Amino acid sequence: MRTKIWLSPPHMSGKEQQYVNDAFASNWVAPLGPMVDAFEEELSVYLAVPHVAALSSGTAAIHLALLMLGVKTGDEVIASSFTFSATVNPIVYLGATPVLIDSEPETWNMDPVLLEEAITDRIKKGKKPAAIVVVDLYGMPARMDQICSIAEKYEIPLVEDAAEALGSRFEEKACGSFGQMGILSFNGNKIITTSAGGALVSSDAEKVSTARFLATQARDEFPHYEHTHIGYNYRLSNILAAIGRGQLQVIQDRVSVRREINRSYRELLKDREEISFQTEPDLRYFSNYWLSCILINRKKAGFDRESIRIRLQMENIDSRPLWKPMHLQPVFKACPAYVNGTSEKLFVNGLCLPSGSSLQPSDLELIAGLIL
Ligand SMILES: *Cc1c(COP(=O)(O)O)cnc(C)c1O
Repeated sequence: MRTKIWLSPPHMSGKEQQYVNDAFASNWVAPLGPMVDAFEEELSVYLAVPHVAALSSGTAAIHLALLMLGVKTGDEVIASSFTFSATVNPIVYLGATPVLIDSEPETWNMDPVLLEEAITDRIKKGKKPAAIVVVDLYGMPARMDQICSIAEKYEIPLVEDAAEALGSRFEEKACGSFGQMGILSFNGNKIITTSAGGALVSSDAEKVSTARFLATQARDEFPHYEHTHIGYNYRLSNILAAIGRGQLQVIQDRVSVRREINRSYRELLKDREEISFQTEPDLRYFSNYWLSCILINRKKAGFDRESIRIRLQMENIDSRPLWKPMHLQPVFKACPAYVNGTSEKLFVNGLCLPSGSSLQPSDLELIAGLIL
């Protein structure tokens, strides 16, 4: 049988191996070293944000971001509901309660109207949210102008979960650089990968350096091991940072290829009235189109997303339903949620198509041909 077509497999440039060899040659086989320093510097230049801490995962980055913003036991933290659970889990690690906000139908990201409603309602109930975590899902920037101004109006710190959005921009500003802190992920399925890894991004030097300290077991500066804080083992390995440096060199190419794949799917499916796409609302939005996602109008189509998913699976092609919203997850069912039905509809009718940058035009034709 034909080799499996994956949703978003790693795509090495060939340069990673040399950096890994250099890391071995220097014997920095450790959770720190020159590759980590250089990767941080290169990310900071790419995003135009002065401070970056390379970490073991995007989840670790969200955990430290919330910690740096002072989130503590008993707090409430607002988060996008339509996302991967890793956006919300760190809120619970800190003993805080997630307050989940539904999406608006254009970007599929946090609805600014519901956000403001939730903030005023939580304040009325006696608890001002301690932070907001907004996600750029599948690479699509959220409505950052409105979300940032609401966060400023109520003086609530904002974390941008740009795990899926490296290379995306809103009004020419890099995703990951909005809010007090931004986070990135370099997991194996993301647009570039270190196999596992993440980063915390901020213009606040002190917060990033404290996060780096906590991520390194909070070891105080003494010849012996002295501790005044609870630490974490969250730093990125020097070997993995070497992979990241090779990957970051080709990020522009990876973004153009994913955007080209998205254009091809649209072209191949353009006469199919029952199928629509997650789409940039206007020219201020620039998505990396990490995943190309479609919605199926079941009434017009006479079939649903599961029938397409199974058909693709039978042909050894990976596809995936859109994220199941957090307010519908058993583990978060007790959390306050402000919903409008949008993300539930997206979950029921939406499918992520294979979107890896190593896909061939013939693969895209094959996949599009199976969507019926
Ligand atoms: C992947 C992802 C994360 C978590 O990143 P890891 O590096 O896998 O820990 C967080 N949020 C979103 C939206 C993601 O897609």
